[in-house]
Amino acid sequence: MPPKIGFVGLGIMGKPMARNLMKAGYSLTVHDVRAEPVEELASEGAAPASSGREVAERTDVVITMLPDSADSEQAILGPNGVLEGARKGSVIIDMSSIAPLVSQKIASFAARQGVEMLDAPVSGGEPGAIAGTLAIMVGGKKEVFDRHLDMLKVMGKSVVHVGDIGAGGFTKLANQIMVAANIEALSEALVLATKAGLDPQVVFQAVRGGLAGSNALEAKAPMIMARNFKAGFRIRLHQKDLHNALLTAKELGVPLPVTSLVQQMLGALINQGKGENDHSAICTFIEDLAKVEVRSRTPRG
Ligand code: NAD
Repeated sequence: MPPKIGFVGLGIMGKPMARNLMKAGYSLTVHDVRAEPVEELASEGAAPASSGREVAERTDVVITMLPDSADSEQAILGPNGVLEGARKGSVIIDMSSIAPLVSQKIASFAARQGVEMLDAPVSGGEPGAIAGTLAIMVGGKKEVFDRHLDMLKVMGKSVVHVGDIGAGGFTKLANQIMVAANIEALSEALVLATKAGLDPQVVFQAVRGGLAGSNALEAKAPMIMARNFKAGFRIRLHQKDLHNALLTAKELGVPLPVTSLVQQMLGALINQGKGENDHSAICTFIEDLAKVEVRSRTPRG
């Protein structure tokens, strides 16, 4: 019998991930503090639930996809949370990007109740969530990972067990550093080229096949040139990830100079009211300094 799955947190990522599980034939019980996505998935066959506790009472495996550490703590350990409804043998898979030390804390509370936990953050953004092609980095017991691999593969193209609980989160922090630095660098490059009088679209075409090419360039340069900053991945969430990276790095005695700089830029963009924009809007920070806008001059079509 396939496990009954609960899903808590139906935002940009959680909703399409939950939908893919339903399409693959899993029975789903869903909850979010917002009624809208719950009603939407209920109309497609999911069972709605009014709390994390109710989700856990009705299911074997509860997946959470929430913004940050405090949200996972609240939804899992808080009143009416997942752990109140979980039984011995239930499994929690937190796919949110949160501080790894918090994942370890939540897992230790769960273990006292005989509940297993995996931390399984993802990369690949909204398009990857919709297509079921996310990169999923999983921490926790290998045996628990193996039991849930088929189900995780419904949501991800690459599903890798990276170590004990918290290892998924450490891997995700490394991922977020690479993505942030990449977007910042491609923004500086496109601003410079535009200020020099070049068409950024032509520059993009010229460099994308060389060593400067990257998934970040492919995904974000077209958004910047089209002035489309609809998230995608929100600036406020990336700022949160880099904040978690810097806290973790401090504990481990690792200086992260570039990460620290980009985190400051993201903080400034939040102050400018851009926290809900896609992280490709990092480019607007550099544009403001240079007084130029990266906009394609090549007619479309
Ligand atoms: P989002 O803000 O769109 O969705 C979060 C959802 O959680 C919202 O629907 C919100 O109402 C709900 N929620 C918050 N607190 C809750 C609670 N206590 N109980 C129930 N529901 C609650 O965020 P998202 O973009 O879907 O991101 C989710 C996680 O995935 C974040 O940790 C983010 O960093 C990570 N992530 C996002 C992307 C991306 O491109 N969006 C990519 C990779 C990883």
